[in-house]
Amino acid sequence: MDQIVLSHVTKTFTTKTLGTVTAVNDFNLTIKEGECFSFLGPSGCGKTTTLRMIAGFEDLSQGEIHLCGKPVSIKSKNLYVPPEDRGLGMVFQSFAVWPHMNIFENVAFPLRVRKVPKAEMTERVKMALKHTSLDGMEKVYPGNLSGGQQQRIALARAIVTNPKVMLLDEPLSNLDPKLRETMRFEIKELQKKFNFTIIFVTHDQSEAMALSDRMMVMDMGNIVQIGTPTELYNRPVNRFVHKFLGQSTFTDVILQDGKAYARGDMEQPLPVALPENGEREMVMATRPNQIDMNRTEGYKTKVEKRIFLTNYTEYLVRVGDQLLQVQTPHRNAFAQGETCYLKFPGIMWYGKEDEAAEAERNRRQLV
Ligand code: ATP
Repeated sequence: MDQIVLSHVTKTFTTKTLGTVTAVNDFNLTIKEGECFSFLGPSGCGKTTTLRMIAGFEDLSQGEIHLCGKPVSIKSKNLYVPPEDRGLGMVFQSFAVWPHMNIFENVAFPLRVRKVPKAEMTERVKMALKHTSLDGMEKVYPGNLSGGQQQRIALARAIVTNPKVMLLDEPLSNLDPKLRETMRFEIKELQKKFNFTIIFVTHDQSEAMALSDRMMVMDMGNIVQIGTPTELYNRPVNRFVHKFLGQSTFTDVILQDGKAYARGDMEQPLPVALPENGEREMVMATRPNQIDMNRTEGYKTKVEKRIFLTNYTEYLVRVGDQLLQVQTPHRNAFAQGETCYLKFPGIMWYGKEDEAAEAERNRRQLV
């Protein structure tokens, strides 16, 4: 079943300093029941605004949102269902745990608001604490607890209402790396047990990849690409997504007479399949660990620099007038100055990057 449906959702803000900014531009999006779906993108791309509109904290400038088959926001009809009636659980980066209430009271709060009878409330709080490894801590005040424990309280408070949809806004970014991994796993376990749909907001691509069934990469208020983590990693639609989802190596290439030449070397063609409908100047994209560096065949060149890193060896290799970053396992390492050959399996071709887009991205991140 389609559980969260956004149709032509747009949000603009007008401020004195920036003028009018389209934070979310004509979003059409369908998230299925039980999916873990991530919103991924740099600061200012519109992730939180989209989430806040789904939660009901932010009005829409245009469009409609349906949750579990029911309309919750329809701008043209002035229809608006308040957050507490949308059947959602929410966890934020800041934990939003109340220090003056003990753990029981923190978790029970949404049930008190809904006037759930006392016996049922106690039962449900106990269950939520058990599933977040907080049982026995009902009377403890959260003030002195670790970030991980506070985030568990926030999770318990979110699951206690038995929500169909869980909205998680950067819930792990205030935790240290080890704890993040543990909590990631615990969130997935909770999802299996309670079978809710997750929208996960993050600017951390590895977190999104580890958690998501599908993810949406956003840029400056636009949806750029939606797909599974492997689809997005292996077939990014543009340079922005390529760069955002992992280390990238871009080479400026000139296409001439059915061959591809690295800029600065019109003598030796690159051993690559040409793009369909390519322009004369294109960008060849790959990842440093996907380049095949060997001693027998391919584009002949030289190692300019070699660096030993913990898990691999990294090289800078000259290709035309550019230096390419290449990573290989430590075995059969090449020496600095040694001749080598490069092959480029699984490359992507892109047009030249739009510099105006980069400037706008920077402007949005500054505010
Ligand atoms: P971050 O990762 O930094 O939280 P984000 O991707 O969640 O960023 P949003 O917070 O949704 O981005 O912001 C999108 C754009 O809308 C930004 O340009 C931001 O400045 C603008 N914006 C968001 N909220 C408001 C507001 N209340 N008033 C004016 N502009 C706003």
